[in-house]
Amino acid sequence: MTALFPHCILRIALDTPLNTVFDYRWHCEPEARPLVGQLALVQFGSREVTGLIVEVLDETDVPEAKLKDALAVRSQLSPLSPQWLALAGFAADYYQRPLGEVALPGLPKNLRVGTTVALDRAIRKLAKNEAPHDATPANPPPLNAQQQAAADAIGGASGFTPTLLYGVTGSGKTEVYLQACDQVLTREPDAQILILVPEINLTPQLEGNIRARFPGVMLATLHSSLSEGERMLHWLAAHQGRARIVLGTRLAILASLPNLKLIVIDEEHDPSYKQQEGLRYSARDLAVWRAWQLQIPIVLGSATPSLESWHHAQSGRYRKLELRERAVKNAVLPQVKLLDMERDKPKDGLTSQLIAALKLRMERGEQSLLFLNRRGYAPVICCESCGWISECTRCTSFMVLHRPEHRLRCHHCSLELRIPRHCPTCGNVDLQPLGRGTQRVEEGLQALFPEARVLRIDADSTRKKGSAQEAFDTVHRGEVDILIGTQMVAKGHDFKKLTLVGILNPDTALFSQDYRASERLFAQLMQVAGRAGRAGRTEGGSESEVLIQTRYPQHPLYGAVVNHDYDHFATALLEEREQAALPPYLFQALLRAEARELATALEFLTIARDCLAHPNITINDPIPMTMTRVHNVDRAQLLIESPSRPQLQAFLKEWMKMLREMKTSRVKWSLEVDPLDI
Ligand code: ADP
Ligand code: ZN
Ligand code: ZN
Repeated sequence: MTALFPHCILRIALDTPLNTVFDYRWHCEPEARPLVGQLALVQFGSREVTGLIVEVLDETDVPEAKLKDALAVRSQLSPLSPQWLALAGFAADYYQRPLGEVALPGLPKNLRVGTTVALDRAIRKLAKNEAPHDATPANPPPLNAQQQAAADAIGGASGFTPTLLYGVTGSGKTEVYLQACDQVLTREPDAQILILVPEINLTPQLEGNIRARFPGVMLATLHSSLSEGERMLHWLAAHQGRARIVLGTRLAILASLPNLKLIVIDEEHDPSYKQQEGLRYSARDLAVWRAWQLQIPIVLGSATPSLESWHHAQSGRYRKLELRERAVKNAVLPQVKLLDMERDKPKDGLTSQLIAALKLRMERGEQSLLFLNRRGYAPVICCESCGWISECTRCTSFMVLHRPEHRLRCHHCSLELRIPRHCPTCGNVDLQPLGRGTQRVEEGLQALFPEARVLRIDADSTRKKGSAQEAFDTVHRGEVDILIGTQMVAKGHDFKKLTLVGILNPDTALFSQDYRASERLFAQLMQVAGRAGRAGRTEGGSESEVLIQTRYPQHPLYGAVVNHDYDHFATALLEEREQAALPPYLFQALLRAEARELATALEFLTIARDCLAHPNITINDPIPMTMTRVHNVDRAQLLIESPSRPQLQAFLKEWMKMLREMKTSRVKWSLEVDPLDI
């Protein structure tokens, strides 16, 4: 009956693991048909969900009796562009996911709910908010010659021009981005620019710079700590082309930007660009694809580029621009020294040389930063009389002592326990913390320097919304003498009064199984070292210094850090990788399986290993993951390798189809393409 009235068929992608699209009927006159790229509300099973229209058709194979009507079309929202759909389609294809699982979670939650209240409100708000500010833009500093050349090369580029901006820490990469942006915005009145940073904590610093420089330009931020209302508004501002600069973390790579003309990826080497759950995408890699698709320039900036990008720069695929010196007058790279912990035994985790250096900074009113990538008080507590240690009952890991919170915490499953008063095995009341985390170092510092203003910044001290920003502001205002922190403090920050960086306990990463560990450690050390001496030496002020406490002062990795020698280090690492046939000379994917019993997971992976053979594809044996059990679930993995990316992709496509058809109720599995942690 209903079919007699004019209607069309909407083919819709939904956020479900089913690798297909779904047809719905929509009653409308032919001239009022919905458009591809619009959103529609439909009944799916027992739920009402929002989907993305990917085709509008006259008819369907779905039998009349089974065909449901779509409930609503979000006609007030202009369609997502074909380019955006192609981006989502590429990501879905490349990472072997259904389109809906990529496209829909990339949209603000408020767009995907049953009502349009939030959407309508955002549309009204943006329509009102038209008047540009007329504040005067902050004056840009005159660029040095290398910066100017880089800004002109980036700002003046046309077509797909991937550029690696390789500039030492403090070389003023931000200023290069800003002036390149200025050129693009001035030249093209509608142009939009996407700027990605690795850490949410770096957005306020850059946001402030951008707003001061471009007061008349609408800036939208996109990151995970926005409220849903803000996220809706900012997303829409980008989608409507009003926001001309969009600044965000990795999730912003999926923003809808109809007039995108330039992409900037700051600290491109940073592992945070890789999403580590769900759709495990690399925002950096998607950004390069997006730039290629739109034929626009993209700049990847870093003092320690990823080996992938370095490789592309060496082979000429990316253009390389260099900034060899620090931008601020009199600012030079800090002196890096290795402190041998065998000779100078640490007290409270600090060698006497590091203590002396801290003391000197205290006397001169300068700031120091201690970097220790381990939060909590101590990684474990133990009983010296029977050997008991605080293991997590649900994971292959230890319960970390958090003394200020009076808790033992597992950092993997978030199990929390009170600190036991006595050993659960033998009753001994004298339980000892073993090792040292940031809280313990903080305590030691307070004892050593009772007059010092010590501030700890880590995931524990910054749980409350806004507290991280508050902490960083305190440092910038100079109200902190000694800052102690994890990788949160190591990246990107421009601390102006800091002349000393102390690095505690980096040795563990030297002997890791993971072939990427040394690349990562090197980058981390160079980055944190790069926080020292950024403002230039003042009269009577200290020379900026980085002191690394180690048991292996002879290790070549430290030698490269001392010499600030990324080039040689990276070139040597790349040679090793080529000889050992590792990425970037090889392409990988990882199939993970989780089950109550390890055997079940391994069994599934064994079947998966044997179900499809393919030339030029190596499927390794299934193995338990290093941390086998997390939250009472056992985990195993299977590594797939190929020297050819297209062949790997072709294999995965066929293989995934087979795996999806397997009955696997007792295992949960997922595939990761280009895994970072193996
Ligand atoms: P990077 O990101 O390369 O580590 P930043 O962009 O944070 O470095 O710049 C480091 C410092 O140098 C900042 O304080 C910035 O204001 C300053 N700076 C950048 N360019 C110039 C310049 N041309 N003249 C003077 N100071 C500059
Ligand atoms: Zn005991
Ligand atoms: Zn646990």
